[in-house]
Amino acid sequence: MPSKELPERSDIVIIGGGIIGTTLAHELARRGEEVTVIEKRFIGSGSTFRCGTGIRQQFNDEANVRVMKRSVELWKEYSERYGFSFEQTGYLFLLYDEGEVEEFKRNIEIQNRFGVPTRLITPEEAKEIVPLLDTSEVIAASWNPTDGKADPFHATVSFAINAEKYGAKFVEYTEVKGFLREKGEIKGLKTSRGIIKTGIVVNATNAWAKLINAMAGIKTRIPIEPYKHQAVITQPIRKGAVKPMVISMRYGHAYLTQTAHGGIVGGVGYELGPTYDLNPTYEFMREVSYYFTKIIPALRELLILRTWAGYYAKTPDSNAAIGKIEELSDYYIAAGFSGHGFMMAPAVAEMVADLITKGRTDLPAEWYDPYRFERGELRGRALQMG
Ligand SMILES: Cc1cc2nc3c(=O)[nH]c(=O)nc-3n(C[C@H](O)[C@H](O)[C@H](O)COP(=O)(O)OP(=O)(O)OC[C@H]3O[C@@H](n4cnc5c(N)ncnc54)[C@H](O)[C@@H]3O)c2cc1C
Repeated sequence: MPSKELPERSDIVIIGGGIIGTTLAHELARRGEEVTVIEKRFIGSGSTFRCGTGIRQQFNDEANVRVMKRSVELWKEYSERYGFSFEQTGYLFLLYDEGEVEEFKRNIEIQNRFGVPTRLITPEEAKEIVPLLDTSEVIAASWNPTDGKADPFHATVSFAINAEKYGAKFVEYTEVKGFLREKGEIKGLKTSRGIIKTGIVVNATNAWAKLINAMAGIKTRIPIEPYKHQAVITQPIRKGAVKPMVISMRYGHAYLTQTAHGGIVGGVGYELGPTYDLNPTYEFMREVSYYFTKIIPALRELLILRTWAGYYAKTPDSNAAIGKIEELSDYYIAAGFSGHGFMMAPAVAEMVADLITKGRTDLPAEWYDPYRFERGELRGRALQMG
């Protein structure tokens, strides 16, 4: 994908070429809109290529369950059409006490109501799905076979290439530095490579969203802070050893699965911040080793190849801010995905494209209302993890 010259003008400009900006550009271009993505480094260089691959519908509220159900439909459709890797190998939440079981029974009831076929299974059934698990302390598990995982690199680049076929432009190594405004209207953006004229801007910069809001002069309080979240990959093992994403809230909010390449990838709840620092830490190595080997003791034999860090762009209720900011026309935000933005991207793209092109959407956009923070209407905390 060649880095294009900055166009003089574009009807819509998306700031940020992560999975959110890329899927949105794809969706808008597919609908015949003229759209340009401006990315300060390269496509996927933010949190997207650092993410844990996980795609789940197991949330604890109606909006996220509905959005993720739609997202999985789109993951399936586009992975087949464009030939990138998306596998429905399921998500398995291991449960260790009655309190957890009660909580997950409630979640499963909501999920089932909206057509997500999650069910409570026994430790024996969980062990059939992942024979390497230590289930000696597990009393039940929440299992949805239609959850899955996708390769972030392959998926993002596929969406970008196909967006280009529909006419979207991607301008890499170009940083947005400021807004040209006139009486509450956007006239253009100042970038490190000159000015681009536009009337519609989408802030899809996730961990950097507050900086873009400040450049735009937005007064509405939209609290999104960058947290350092780390991940690990081990040497490859026998294919198919850990098919689903396995989650243990008890053991450090750990999530782990096997990549197509064969390594075990994942992370734990350990977070540092707010910070823009991305150096991996020794403390994370210790925590992840301890928790992963509690869940799968055989992992003790494996070598860790690499650890790295990326951002969780967090809001106070772990739900993103998605919508139109009325104080500046036409300015939209889709940011603050709090650790689960990769999975949501195809549905969020549809939602934001609906808002831009039709002014409304059938997806439950109100849940992600960017004004809820100022109004003091925080949502129930979305389940935050891979
Ligand atoms: C270790 C780890 C594991 C994760 N695991 C999962 C998981 O299993 N499942 C899941 O769904 N999510 C997971 N996530 C979260 C997921 O990575 C993010 O929610 C998602 O990638 C956000 O995508 P985005 O496009 O909003 O942001 P990003 O990918 O961060 O893209 C934003 C882009 O904006 C660009 N930008 C910023 N400022 C400017 C500017 N001024 N001008 C131009 N461009 C700019 C950046 O360079 C960046 O490329 C994980 C995250 C981490 C760190």
